[in-house]
Amino acid sequence: PSPVYAKTELDVWTLMNQVSASVGAVNLGQGYMSFPPKDFIKRAAQEALNENTHNQYAPPRGRPGLLEQLGSRFTDRFGRSIDPSKEVSVHAGANEALLSVFTAFLEHGKDQEVILMEPAFDQYTPNVIMAGGKPVYVPLRVMSDKDPRESVISSDDWKLDLAEFEAAITDKTRIVVLNTPHNPVGKVFSREELAQIGAIAEKHNLLIVADEVYEHLTYGVEHVSIATLPGMWERTVTVGSAGKLFGVTGWRVGWAVGPEEFISATLSAHTRIVFTSNTPLQEGVASAFRQSPEHDFFEVQRKEYEARRNRLMGVFDDIGLPYVVPKGAYYLLVNAAKLKIPDDFEFPDFIIERGENFKLVYFFIKYFGVSGIPPTEFYSAPHKELANDYVRFAFCKTDEGLEEAAVCLQKIK
Ligand code: GLN
Repeated sequence: PSPVYAKTELDVWTLMNQVSASVGAVNLGQGYMSFPPKDFIKRAAQEALNENTHNQYAPPRGRPGLLEQLGSRFTDRFGRSIDPSKEVSVHAGANEALLSVFTAFLEHGKDQEVILMEPAFDQYTPNVIMAGGKPVYVPLRVMSDKDPRESVISSDDWKLDLAEFEAAITDKTRIVVLNTPHNPVGKVFSREELAQIGAIAEKHNLLIVADEVYEHLTYGVEHVSIATLPGMWERTVTVGSAGKLFGVTGWRVGWAVGPEEFISATLSAHTRIVFTSNTPLQEGVASAFRQSPEHDFFEVQRKEYEARRNRLMGVFDDIGLPYVVPKGAYYLLVNAAKLKIPDDFEFPDFIIERGENFKLVYFFIKYFGVSGIPPTEFYSAPHKELANDYVRFAFCKTDEGLEEAAVCLQKIK
């Protein structure tokens, strides 16, 4: 027997974590938190485990306590009454929610297409393919008067060219994936941009899969859910994540919200993929939601992330490398075109074979001792060169970690 899937390359997260650990670099690569969750969140999970009834299978749709919290959260956020017994499903992380939605909407053998805006989170492509679909890529375009290799630009400058988007739609297109706030650009799509995307989706009768896992982290702008725009609820499934909301990416609890017909199909797929998500941590998340208001948790957390973002931007201002100001999420795209890699610097073959951008990131890891993620991994082959100059650094990290990175990067001066 010869497995086929095992032939795919090592995922970028595992690869970069390994390289980073091997040289003891400060890890600003994978977007996990290097600080602990708040005590009330950890306690919520510990207390859940102590309840005997919270250690057995959950219903596939999710534990009633968590569904109730999600129902009220989305009723508030969407300004419409959300019935959690019909319009919400709980998943083993947002990743599994996405796979379940794709599985629910795509048919194998029919070449049905899914539009992904690049850079596109690396999990979308394999998930679409596993569900039988065909990814079609439309890159965001940098539209700025400034040269991003020389000057700081805004994540607002990364725009979807609507004509290019519409030209990519065929009679086989079924879905468009919209990620806002965006990983790795940090773009928060404006209401106007969402309305324009929504109008095209409506014209071609597409499902919108809204990946909004960073909904709670915006800096000076408002996050708008496309599902709240006129006529959009009826064609949207919105995906969210407790890992991101509460800083517990290892808990693997996510959700999908949308019209009953969409969520029941998504739930059918979910039931056959993982059956249910883990019970105690669903209860932990439900309890964390209940306790959040008394800690003013989401606003306190947002301010903490904003301070980390400003700190990391300050590091690159100081050393003179331009970047893209993120209005949301917790990543900074740094443009390192100005950096000169010494001619005698050696790269291992496993890096060389993955292209120029991996070499740049490897150089940051090995020479400066600071790791990032190569954003070309978020692009299809024909568009990879759009990201060759960039390195993605995550700022969901401790003050000490960011400080250590600042010291290491002084070597650039
Ligand atoms: N979403 C996180 C990131 O972009 C983690 C991704 C992963 O590990 N699969 O860094």
